[in-house]
Amino acid sequence: MELFESPTVKLSLYGKGTTIREIALEKVKFTTVPEREDLDDPFIIYDLGDVVSKDNQWRETLPQIETFFAVKSNPDPVVLRLMLGLGRGFDCSSKKEIQTVLDIGASPDRIIFAHPFKQESHLRFAREKGVSLMTFDTEEELYMVKRVYPEAKLVLRLRFDAWKMPIKFGCRDSKVRPLLGLAKELGLSVCGASFYIGNIHSVDPKVFVQAIRHTRSIFEAGRGLGLDMDLLDIGGGFPGRLHAKKPFEKYADAVREALEENFPPSMGVKVIAEPGTFYTQSAGYLVANVMAKRLYRPGKDETTNGTNGTTNGTNGHPVWMYYLNVGVFNAFSGRDVDSITTLFEVPELLRLEGPVGKKHLKPSCLWGPTCYSKDVIFDRCMMPEMESGDFVMFHDMGAYITSSGCGFNGFEVPPTCYIAPKDIRVVLRK
Ligand SMILES: *Cc1c(COP(=O)(O)O)cnc(C)c1O
Repeated sequence: MELFESPTVKLSLYGKGTTIREIALEKVKFTTVPEREDLDDPFIIYDLGDVVSKDNQWRETLPQIETFFAVKSNPDPVVLRLMLGLGRGFDCSSKKEIQTVLDIGASPDRIIFAHPFKQESHLRFAREKGVSLMTFDTEEELYMVKRVYPEAKLVLRLRFDAWKMPIKFGCRDSKVRPLLGLAKELGLSVCGASFYIGNIHSVDPKVFVQAIRHTRSIFEAGRGLGLDMDLLDIGGGFPGRLHAKKPFEKYADAVREALEENFPPSMGVKVIAEPGTFYTQSAGYLVANVMAKRLYRPGKDETTNGTNGTTNGTNGHPVWMYYLNVGVFNAFSGRDVDSITTLFEVPELLRLEGPVGKKHLKPSCLWGPTCYSKDVIFDRCMMPEMESGDFVMFHDMGAYITSSGCGFNGFEVPPTCYIAPKDIRVVLRK
């Protein structure tokens, strides 16, 4: 593969028709990942072309909605520079995230500080840097903003009683009017409302319709109080997997229709969104090494304290237990993050020599590398039999992986190597 190098990124360029499997096998053999010290170290392949095609998809289906990329899903400066090159804004939740996007050259007015409870010093930092757009959902936050950053432009974060939304954030229906009233009294500027529907795997696209419809009434209430509300932020929660069960188009259609009905252009409301997973999930592929294997025979190899879960559902069948150099801490911690709680797909086996085939699938268990006994990726899955030294590749590993992982027990978050199609046209700005 051709290499492209700039001061900020090293890219392998692939030609039309090249498969990710071919790329992975080449990388496994001849490492071009500088941080990968040893040939059996794990790594992430990140396809910037995939991010660009997601952005094209967004522009084609929801051209009227500006996106503010959710930095927490992948704060990698290479990804952030790409988003900047694509003309996108940023959703940040902390001083560090704000600093990171300012460092790559983003303008403060392209940032929304989308954490309804801000650490006071972070709010001061936002004021120093001129990041004025931010969310809130309590009276306490309003008093703090009044004290620290009274010129801020505030967006009310909503939570709806109509369906299960985590209670951690958002203002309930019954509190909306008093809260807006207080903002008015304090002389603060409330410019709009937002929501984040959260986990896409349990959310029907119709939820966006209900949420948008409901938010319309909040705008009416706010405008009734004399607040200048003209910004609607529909958050994230759009699917980002390679083969999403409910494809993005379904969500885009639902959103478009709901906006036409409730926020026609005559209302003069600007609409923004904060997708994270949508942009980054399918761009990432994680390649890991099988460090060891062992056969577990239920009834015969039972441990005395029975702490491992591998006796579930084996029906007495033996289980191949594989020990990978990626696990819950350095790559799969994101599984607890809202948007990707459901199962990661069973990985693809990458063998340098010897057969691969989908035949002869056997009950298997994939352990992570640390000495912690709960470090297990898949308690139960069906895999072709692997050998120590084989590589496996996980798909959809581009969101919430590097951002939430840690190097517990000396097994570090895998380094990333970037790839892009030869004809990629986006400028990766400095
Ligand atoms: C995490 C988060 C997002 C991004 O969510 P995805 O499901 O990854 O698209 C957007 N908005 C807010 C407020 C968030 O907390």
